[in-house]
Amino acid sequence: MLEVNDLRVSFHSYAGEVQAVRGVSLTLPDEGTLAIVGESGCGKSVTAQSILRLHDTEYTEYKSGSVLLNGRDLMQLSEQEMREVRGNEIGMIFQDPMTALNPTMTVGNQITEVLLRHEKGKDGHKLTRREAKERAIELLRMVKLPNPEQRVDQFPHEFSGGQRQRAVAAIAMACSPQVLIADEPTTALDVTVQAQILDLMKEMQREKHTSIIIITHDLGVVANIAKTVAVMYGGVIVETGTVGDIFYRPRHPYAWGLLDATDKAVRDKSKPLKSIEGTPPDLVKPPVGCPFADRCEYAMQVCKDHMPQETEISEGHCCRCWLLDPDCPVRPRRKGV
Ligand code: SF4
Repeated sequence: MLEVNDLRVSFHSYAGEVQAVRGVSLTLPDEGTLAIVGESGCGKSVTAQSILRLHDTEYTEYKSGSVLLNGRDLMQLSEQEMREVRGNEIGMIFQDPMTALNPTMTVGNQITEVLLRHEKGKDGHKLTRREAKERAIELLRMVKLPNPEQRVDQFPHEFSGGQRQRAVAAIAMACSPQVLIADEPTTALDVTVQAQILDLMKEMQREKHTSIIIITHDLGVVANIAKTVAVMYGGVIVETGTVGDIFYRPRHPYAWGLLDATDKAVRDKSKPLKSIEGTPPDLVKPPVGCPFADRCEYAMQVCKDHMPQETEISEGHCCRCWLLDPDCPVRPRRKGV
């Protein structure tokens, strides 16, 4: 369905060229749910936003790579063609619903605007405003907003945080996109509402057969919704696999650190909660070797000098770490792995 190959994205800043994404490759199967996890600044949101080419072209350089949606390379499309893709073929839910919604327009008008641009009636005729409003009410009902007939005429400030995120989900799903990208969709919400939004996304996937990419730093969210996981660090994917691979058979020391730093529900319970010492690398001068080398307790000289190649551990479970090299003299493993 969606395939990202060797994507490299840089930002031009006063400090120099920030190499935010450094050769990311990902695959999202039909009706799959892929979670991209990692700390703030690791490049996960930039990767997701680059799929839709949402960055300001004045400061952003898409240096190389392809983003294939059903075989068509989105990197080669004109801006006009990308406007057709956004919202229609790929929908997006942002972290902060208040900034994603226009405060000066009713929620209904924000949904109908998308519908009028991309959708047609059953016999192929251009949608009328009235038909679009009826569909907007249906969408608000689908995302379980109470009294959708009244809510459709209300403004975002009249909605609670969770209701706003539901409204954003309704806009993202208005044209039944094949792919939904959700960038930290639950971070700004309290725990109960978080669970409701994740349930809503799962339900939308079941009904509309949507494939989902979810960006998160929360492994609880990953466990709840994802089928496959990509662990990102320093602009690079360091491990990919199924949820079972990453939670129960992780092979990268950064993935071990993430699991040990998360709550008891997913962590090795025999170990205390611990943080990962140190800070992420400066992506203006990214390390030539493993991006995690400065924080890794197993780092060797080779880690600092050379980027590890990807090793396939089992089908779909891949990891970039020198510890997996057949000539590596040490074989540390996480307990139980
Ligand atoms: Fe640690 Fe080296 Fe593996 Fe990087 S390649 S995670 S520094 S052991």
